[in-house]
Amino acid sequence: EWVDMPRLLEELVEDGKALSGSRHHRFELTCEPGLLLEGCESELRSAFSNLIFNAVKYTPGDGYIGVRWYADKAGAHLSVTDNGIGIPAAHIPRLTERFYRVDSARSKASGGTGLGLAIVKHVLNRHRAQLTVRSQPGQGSTFICTFPTALLRRAGTRTARPPAS
Ligand code: ATP
Ligand code: MG
Repeated sequence: EWVDMPRLLEELVEDGKALSGSRHHRFELTCEPGLLLEGCESELRSAFSNLIFNAVKYTPGDGYIGVRWYADKAGAHLSVTDNGIGIPAAHIPRLTERFYRVDSARSKASGGTGLGLAIVKHVLNRHRAQLTVRSQPGQGSTFICTFPTALLRRAGTRTARPPAS
């Protein structure tokens, strides 16, 4: 299934704005037009919404949330950047473990179970994609999902293999 990433991400940013509500995060969406990804739309939707919802949860009101979809020589990247509370380096390697949360104070304040990033990791594995996390406590976080070039297509270009219907 070819997933129209710019359209999907527009929807997910709208969901993020709804979740932000009166906290008024400033969203910015930047997409390479017509860059499609072969994958399972419902799985990708749940993975990317987890990243965007985390950004909303762990960024104070009026904060910035940037979502980008772009390609380079390494593949295509979906990045979610925020200028929220950030994550201490020691926790980063364990974030995708089921039920792992950075501290109980933030967990209580925000609700949730600690499964979001485990789902992200699982969905990315199924798409041969990698997750990269960069974060500084008090500065913010960036989560980058990198997909192999073999899974990309530009709308309007020919492909050797016809899109699955
Ligand atoms: P759930 O997603 O199940 O509702 P959760 O958000 O706590 O709960 P994960 O999404 O797996 O669980 O995230 C794990 C932990 O990583 C979070 O508890 C939080 O401490 C930290 N974290 C995730 N995303 C961010 C972020 N954008 N900024 C700061 N901390 C984050
Ligand atoms: Mg989460």
